[in-house]
Amino acid sequence: MDHFQYAGDALHAEQVPLAEIAARAGTPCYVYSRATIERHWRAFDEAFGGHPHRICYAVKANGNLAVINLLARLGSGFDIVSGGELRRVIAAGGDPGKTIFSGVGKQDWEIREALAAGIACFNIESESEAGRVSALAAEHGRPAAISVRLNPDVDAKAHPYLSTGLRENKFGVDAARAAEIYRRAHADPNLRISGVACHIGSQLTDLAPYRDALRRVLDFADELAGLGIEIDHIDFGGGLGVRYRDETPPTPAEYCEVITREMRARKKTLPVVIEPGRAILGNAGVLLTRVLCIKRGAVSDFCVVDAGMNDLLRPALYQAYQEIVEVERRPRGEAAQYDVVGPVCESGDFLGKARRLNVRESDLLAVRTAGAYAAVMSSNYNARPRPPEVIVDGGEFHLARERESLEDLHRGERVLPE
Ligand SMILES: *Cc1c(COP(=O)(O)O)cnc(C)c1O
Repeated sequence: MDHFQYAGDALHAEQVPLAEIAARAGTPCYVYSRATIERHWRAFDEAFGGHPHRICYAVKANGNLAVINLLARLGSGFDIVSGGELRRVIAAGGDPGKTIFSGVGKQDWEIREALAAGIACFNIESESEAGRVSALAAEHGRPAAISVRLNPDVDAKAHPYLSTGLRENKFGVDAARAAEIYRRAHADPNLRISGVACHIGSQLTDLAPYRDALRRVLDFADELAGLGIEIDHIDFGGGLGVRYRDETPPTPAEYCEVITREMRARKKTLPVVIEPGRAILGNAGVLLTRVLCIKRGAVSDFCVVDAGMNDLLRPALYQAYQEIVEVERRPRGEAAQYDVVGPVCESGDFLGKARRLNVRESDLLAVRTAGAYAAVMSSNYNARPRPPEVIVDGGEFHLARERESLEDLHRGERVLPE
């Protein structure tokens, strides 16, 4: 459920007509709904009932400072994958003490900054990384808390680019290797074993593979206990899907129920960490765009809009479907079928194919489900400034990020000396 609804023929974000935002902020423009973001976060938080837990929002889904700040105010923790994301969490008032550092390739400076900031845990992805974190923790003078990210070898049945829990993926460590890392870490005074982690993929719409992964992680935790290694949490990662078209993903309540049921069955009361990103932000955003021209083609007609693949990469990168709707529905007139395309010089630059729309030139369209993995993936390809981001709060809206200027685009560039 989100707060983007028609009132009459005008699409609103909460109480604000999207056309009003387009008039003020220009297009293309990302618009997020505060109430939707908060509702989704709370749905996860409430789903655990009395079971001790921490929701660590995955910053890579949408790292806007205002988004991080709103979640920090709810008490959220954060899951980061880079030193840049750590800086964002700190700049937005997030608590590094509730922050988990994931990712398969952490650099020394990133590990140092995370140690200095006092993050909660490093989710380790290899023997080599465990060694580096240990050495840098020794320099820092305090042991580093770690989990090892287990690769449970389950097929998340998501898009191949979104699956991370298969043996052949670069992510995580198989159980035998992970046990060896724990054994060494146990004897290492610079490392403090904190938990076990996993994350099998994104846009999961089926709970069965998730349940299989949970069971393997819990089996592994038992194995550790057998070795005399105690842990203080289990991190089940993120990955819950959202509806882009006709998917029916489980609700946060159903998703968390799988976790608490498996834990209860084994009489485990260990605190649980989850790292949702898409499920919190996905349906909380739209990309507003204006029709530049209607172009008749030999095979299909094109609706050329002012947003392109540099603004929203998902259709080009994953052949992802994103719903596209009219911001102001025309009372009369015929809908026709269009490929909705951007101005970027690539045939892969489309937002949607074969869409029925009742549009004319200079009308506004909204690309839905554009709150996650959308603005964060935008680029300057074709020397296009990245769009602004606006957050609607009830009847008001706030500019959470300005549109880039044309000067911004060549900041730091230099021509060679004469
Ligand atoms: C990307 C990622 C997440 C968030 O995934 P969503 O599908 O957005 O919930 C969580 N944890 C890790 C380690 C990730 O890489």
